[in-house]
Amino acid sequence: MKNVFVLAEQRNQQLRDITWEAIAAGRKLAGDLGAELSCILLSGRVEDMAQKLALECPKVLAVEDPRLDTFNSEAIIRALVPILQDQGPFVLVMGNSNSIIDLAPGLSVALEAALATDCFGLEVHDGKLMAIRQMYSYKVNALVSFKDAQRVVVTLRGGSFSFTPSDQKSGIIEKIPSPLGEDSQRKRFLNYVEAEKGDVDIASADIIVSVGRGIGDEPDMEVFQSLAETMGGVLACSRPIVDKNLLPKYHQVGTSGVEVKPKVYLALGISGAFQHLGGIKGSPLLAAINKDARAPIFRVAQYGIVGDLNELVPILEEKIKAIKKS
Ligand SMILES: Cc1cc2nc3c(=O)[nH]c(=O)nc-3n(C[C@H](O)[C@H](O)[C@H](O)COP(=O)(O)OP(=O)(O)OC[C@H]3O[C@@H](n4cnc5c(N)ncnc54)[C@H](O)[C@@H]3O)c2cc1C
Repeated sequence: MKNVFVLAEQRNQQLRDITWEAIAAGRKLAGDLGAELSCILLSGRVEDMAQKLALECPKVLAVEDPRLDTFNSEAIIRALVPILQDQGPFVLVMGNSNSIIDLAPGLSVALEAALATDCFGLEVHDGKLMAIRQMYSYKVNALVSFKDAQRVVVTLRGGSFSFTPSDQKSGIIEKIPSPLGEDSQRKRFLNYVEAEKGDVDIASADIIVSVGRGIGDEPDMEVFQSLAETMGGVLACSRPIVDKNLLPKYHQVGTSGVEVKPKVYLALGISGAFQHLGGIKGSPLLAAINKDARAPIFRVAQYGIVGDLNELVPILEEKIKAIKKS
């Protein structure tokens, strides 16, 4: 592979966080493959975003076209294919966001490229790219090879690659005339419908105390909120807690909730269903309290206490307060 490309994802002309994670992955991959790293930016206005990207990428290919301002997979495919088809062997790295889930399959077909989605690891073995992704409802991790594919598209699970700004000198920005012709598009962007905004953003929290069905039917939520605050964190939950209206949906962690990547995740009365664990893959330290020693959460937790959370939570909070005082 001679080239590694990262597709920058933007919304309302703001780069989305997943773009930086994709750049982190692309940077590592380019190093391992001895390849060149370029970032592709498609937007109605590219100037500001291109400059930010150039601080982190040796080369930015920027296409300015109002039709690329809002997400439209059909338009993006039409723009990307002419840019990428003359590039020789390449890997295209993108975040596995909702938009990219719509884009990636059609783009891979149009590019005649191999595709691996929702990857949380990229490795190079004997000069060949391998991707790590989960299969069979998150039950196994698979190392995926691409045989002799000359073009590979990978999408990355959010929270899998951590980005640190580089101190390299700014890269070059190459403006490319829009490859979009006059042809009419079948897909039309109508408008964004913003998701309910919460008072907390669990996706960006460093410390999360997460509660599950084990807290009982009529729990005193103040107890858990207080523990979260004492730990300097935020309160999150598993899906049954949202279903019972004990916390709003934006507190839910998991595959149908929010994917989180805190430094510490404390799970209280959560069994560890794969739909829940799918949301905490990016967390380096998982601790759990559960009264069932065979609960699946203990298979993935680094620290665990088998016991009744109603007894343990107040003790834990007192201990933390005492440590903070001393
Ligand atoms: C399509 C789909 C999408 C889904 N998406 C999500 C998702 O995004 N997020 C999510 O969380 N779930 C999701 N689920 C639901 C998921 O399958 C599980 O049902 C759910 O995660 C279980 O939540 P829980 O661990 O809180 O409850 P349970 O599985 O009921 O576990 C409760 C745990 O509490 C322990 N416990 C009970 N009492 C105590 C006590 N006093 N002290 C200590 N421990 C105690 C029990 O031993 C048990 O392990 C989804 C399901 C489907 C089908």
